[in-house]
Amino acid sequence: MDLYQPEYVNINGEQFRVYLTHEEIQQRIRQLGEKVSHDFYDKKPIFIGVLNGAYIFLADLMRYVTIPCEVDFLKLSSYGDEKVSSGQVRQLKEIDANLKDRHVILVEDIVDTGLSMKYLVEKVGRMNPASLSVITMLHKSEATHHDVQIDYVGFKIPDLFVLGYGLDYAQEGRNLAQIYILQEKKKSEKKTKS
Ligand code: 5GP
Ligand code: MG
Ligand code: MG
Repeated sequence: MDLYQPEYVNINGEQFRVYLTHEEIQQRIRQLGEKVSHDFYDKKPIFIGVLNGAYIFLADLMRYVTIPCEVDFLKLSSYGDEKVSSGQVRQLKEIDANLKDRHVILVEDIVDTGLSMKYLVEKVGRMNPASLSVITMLHKSEATHHDVQIDYVGFKIPDLFVLGYGLDYAQEGRNLAQIYILQEKKKSEKKTKS
């Protein structure tokens, strides 16, 4: 199948440039899938995907996992339609599975400030899982200021807004097969605007 892989995209009036290619992403996820399969051999882990952003990452990750496993989802919202976090976590959908005595792997698209992950780890921790691990495709380590546990990271990225591969900007851009980063406007462009 030929995927749509432009070098630049314009979403909601902002210009983005490719940062991680489809191939780089797939290669890394394959390694993560192998690592998880090794670490959770005979534990039948349950992946808990954080909607909406993590759905594509989780779908690809699970197909590189070679051991028995299950999946469920919850839904959080912290960005609204903006490019900076609202600083509040809202839960829009509950986990349906019973996680007591299960080996749980939380799956996120990106850990930015760490607020959402902190909320999730505390919440799932209260459900008495046998173990709780965290995997994120992207980590903005410079921006993370909440004390969070992260066991597996796909890529460390700079503190800039990204989209594609499940991640949105005001709900658009999730369909892109690659990860794109916001092109910073030159000072001259910013000034001439107003
Ligand atoms: P945190 O709670 O760690 O600050 O942010 C977590 C959530 O904010 C992520 O799961 C993701 O949905 C959203 N987010 C953080 N940084 C970015 C980004 O650069 N691009 C997009 N599209 N979403 C982001
Ligand atoms: Mg997310
Ligand atoms: Mg979002």
